[in-house]
Amino acid sequence: MKKNELDKLIICKKCHTLHRKIRLHQGTKARCRLCDTVLYRDHKNLIDTTLALSLVSLISLVIAFSFSILTININGIYQSLDMSSIFVTIFEHKQYLVGVMLAFLIFLFPVSIFVSIVILLTLMKLKRSGYLVKRLLILVAKLLPWSMIDIFFISILVAMVKLFDFAQLELGIGFGAFSVILLLNLFILKRINISDIWEKYDYIYGARGLATKND
Ligand SMILES: [Zn+2]
Repeated sequence: MKKNELDKLIICKKCHTLHRKIRLHQGTKARCRLCDTVLYRDHKNLIDTTLALSLVSLISLVIAFSFSILTININGIYQSLDMSSIFVTIFEHKQYLVGVMLAFLIFLFPVSIFVSIVILLTLMKLKRSGYLVKRLLILVAKLLPWSMIDIFFISILVAMVKLFDFAQLELGIGFGAFSVILLLNLFILKRINISDIWEKYDYIYGARGLATKND
């Protein structure tokens, strides 16, 4: 079977039945014949929606890193927790490896992902630079498993639960920004697949193989 023909098939994530893909009407979903799981959907404004959400995520990330996440009050002694103070503490304790890993996993990788998505979707909207869009899509797919910002935020929530017993906590702007990132991440990952964007790519620039030759 040729690769192009494989692209027309889709496997159900739940029961692993193989289905042949058909073109959907605007805004509808294809469901598995056996278990009713959603196989794929026709996104009305896939590029615009993802672009908007990624921009909001990027801005939230900058806010999350610039403002205080929490203020901890223990018997009148206030301690503000923000990202720069976390990094300073880690490096003061000479935990360089932890600091560098944290910088990559919760800042550099997420920022690279959102910036790449914003650039590649803008180019797709303009229908330009097929080769660059392709490289960026591959980069995003490779980086996605390494963005651990949601895990980091959940670990802060766990730490907060432990602090409740002996300290008063005031939530800061950074906390709100992290919550927004977490919700957007959930929404983006639940609704949008990289494969959907690849399909739009094929639609805009022609088949994947051809795009490389033309560029
Ligand atoms: Zn199924």
